[in-house]
Amino acid sequence: MNPLDALLQADRRHLMHPGTHAHDHASGELTGRVMRRAAGIRIEDHAGRTYIDGFAGLYCVNIGYGREEMAEAIAAQTRELSFYHTYAGFSNGPAVELSRRLIEDWSPPGMRKVYYGMSGSDANDTQIKLIRYYQNVLGRPRKKKLIARQRSYHGSGVATGSLTGQPKFHAAFDLPLPQILHTACPDFYRDGRDGESEAGFVARCVAELEQLIDREGADTIAAFFGEPVMGSGGLLPPPAGYWPAIQAVLRRHDILFVADEVVCGFGRLGSRTGCAHYGIAPDLISVAKGLTSGYLPLSGVIVGERVWDVIARGSREQGAMSHGWTYSGHPVCAAAALTNLDIIEREQLVGNAATVGTYLQAQLHAAFDDHPLVGNVRGVGLLAALELMADKGARQGFAAPGKVSARVAQAALRHGLILRSLGMHDIVGFAPPLIVSKADVDEIVAITHRAVDEVAGDRDDD
Ligand SMILES: *Cc1c(COP(=O)(O)O)cnc(C)c1O
Repeated sequence: MNPLDALLQADRRHLMHPGTHAHDHASGELTGRVMRRAAGIRIEDHAGRTYIDGFAGLYCVNIGYGREEMAEAIAAQTRELSFYHTYAGFSNGPAVELSRRLIEDWSPPGMRKVYYGMSGSDANDTQIKLIRYYQNVLGRPRKKKLIARQRSYHGSGVATGSLTGQPKFHAAFDLPLPQILHTACPDFYRDGRDGESEAGFVARCVAELEQLIDREGADTIAAFFGEPVMGSGGLLPPPAGYWPAIQAVLRRHDILFVADEVVCGFGRLGSRTGCAHYGIAPDLISVAKGLTSGYLPLSGVIVGERVWDVIARGSREQGAMSHGWTYSGHPVCAAAALTNLDIIEREQLVGNAATVGTYLQAQLHAAFDDHPLVGNVRGVGLLAALELMADKGARQGFAAPGKVSARVAQAALRHGLILRSLGMHDIVGFAPPLIVSKADVDEIVAITHRAVDEVAGDRDDD
């Protein structure tokens, strides 16, 4: 057996993959693919085929792959201090410096402290605990329910998978947990009514939120979770006026706003943060993915002044908060994040995401607005999507969603480009590393065009 086949066989035997059909993978019906090395925006598999990574891993590799400077920083910190915990006042230089930079340079105004974890899911889990603690210290034990949106993604733990507004993350796991509610997803393209204006649609989303709050009672609702631009739920930029109107409702009812910036943070939208992009003033922020560009796992919960003051008061009344992870504030992960931020700042990757992102959106519109298979082209910065429709004139999707977009992603892969198919509708997603050039975008759009044409051509044979 050749070495690659042996590796694939061992993978099928011993490795349990996330979000993967267990039987088809183990039996080999699902073709495995072992990735071997990567540099810049390109990644090579074990068979020696290279691809443009049009989705930056899982929209996390903002600075691109294979940076020597990152390897050096990680090695140097490992030699200096490979680990020490941050409980009970112990600290380390990289975690302190990273916190200062996140608050001063990479957060909207009014943020005070950073608590670290290893993943976006554990960051949102920490958020839920801080929110409960906050309400308990304030003497409001009934004000505990959480609102997220249908189709949102906030992680896949027991609590965070409950926040996630996608049925496949609930079914078979006895989720969502009680006290977690979902309100409308702001998908104007799909859910706007015939003849309805964007402003009319926003008013309807806001009214639905108001009704939910009235029905449950504002005195039972603690917090609202929102991604500035919805990620895995469909890469959906909010309609104009949506965030100001939603925030006004939450403020009126004294409901905390948690901004899940796991995708939008660190330049993806062509702005430093999704909050800055849309004028969101959050109480709490979750960051992960682009914080280290995936070189090491690290997440952060950024705590605003309003919540921090109550946490400080709580400690005077009841002692230290018993919440913590062994690896919170890990010095090597923090060192990786610091160098990642150095690179983003020095190479002006936020500005590049804005400029090249505008170009990407324009090229996608030019190539696909009139394509019979593509009903909607949308995005912001270096985050974009094509939504494929069975009958675009009638805004009619496919009967079994996710299959046609998966075929487009497979066709693109055959031509050397990784895209992501989001299966709740037929959505093909783009989120390349923030280092892409206009020439790279031309290549990405050309390959995508070929892939979409091939799938459109095959449809008659189905
Ligand atoms: C990926 C993601 C998460 C979860 O992050 P993990 O590191 O996979 O746990 C949470 N929120 C959003 C918006 C995400 O895209």
